[in-house]
Amino acid sequence: MRFLRDPLIISTDKGLCCEAGGFYIDPHRPVERAIVTHAHSDHARRGSGAYLCEKSGAGLLRARLGSKINVQTLQYGEKIRIGEVFVSLHSAGHILGSAQIRVQRGADVWVASGDYKRDFDPSCTPFESVACDTFITEATFGTPKYVWDKNLEHGRMISEWWNKNAETGRNSVLFGYSLGKAQRILAELRSYAQRPVLIHESISELTECYRREGVALAETADLKAAVASGPLDGELILVPHSALSEAWAAALKDHETAFASGWMQNGGRSYGSGYDLGFVMSDHADWHDINRTIDESGASRVFVQHRNGVLVRHLRQRGIEAFPITELTPEAIEKADGPNLRLF
Ligand SMILES: [Zn+2]
Ligand SMILES: [Zn+2]
Repeated sequence: MRFLRDPLIISTDKGLCCEAGGFYIDPHRPVERAIVTHAHSDHARRGSGAYLCEKSGAGLLRARLGSKINVQTLQYGEKIRIGEVFVSLHSAGHILGSAQIRVQRGADVWVASGDYKRDFDPSCTPFESVACDTFITEATFGTPKYVWDKNLEHGRMISEWWNKNAETGRNSVLFGYSLGKAQRILAELRSYAQRPVLIHESISELTECYRREGVALAETADLKAAVASGPLDGELILVPHSALSEAWAAALKDHETAFASGWMQNGGRSYGSGYDLGFVMSDHADWHDINRTIDESGASRVFVQHRNGVLVRHLRQRGIEAFPITELTPEAIEKADGPNLRLF
């Protein structure tokens, strides 16, 4: 178990840490040097001295963390030396600028996936398979019950729902995360939308970041301004779930609601019921794609982020050395000669 005596990446209370490079990946707390996989708030946090991210995601990072942050960027595939390691970023297909982090020391290659998906998404660069020895994978949907149809035409489905409601004078309220999901919906609607999509203010700036990077999106208009200028009739309104309690919602008359999420695979139960419709549209890989990605990486050792043990057990049955990420903590490594890791 040579790797456990000197692993390239460990899991600390501040997040994934590469000591040989002197940086953290998606640190939970302020650190000197952070490499950020993408701008979602559970990955990009304030307070670090310097940030490194993929070039097309830098605008989103600044929109989220403030314009004064110190950001260095790399393009996908560009390699730099940091301390004793080489680092490059590779598309994760998750949101604009999302990256897997490849770290190399000598012949030893580790990849930390961040969030990723393999589904078609016209708002960001497709996922790139990266060969490595050790793969640290996310597993948001890491159980076999999460498998979805990859051929859904979300743009057509959403526009059909919108048109049907508009014919009867109703508005269509579509809930989705303000970063990533909202822009993916706008990109998929681009060739279908007959008039501007009304978007919530929390989505506007992030959407402009996408446009500045050349991502083609459906036309949009400001929701509040539209509400102020008269009753809405037959509009598509794109908002984050949290905006439901705001004043504009009270001004809405007859309307239908829908929620776009991978959790809709389960009927959206984790978000409560009450939507008229759900679109299964995930930011994360499903069970098949997690396994396919691990296979394509060629990794002989896999660490799984998120607590669910189903994926770890499944990989072990397939002869892959798989562990929960907690086996990469300094304490676990200390005990590396213990019974736990002598499995292999
Ligand atoms: Zn994310
Ligand atoms: Zn995440």
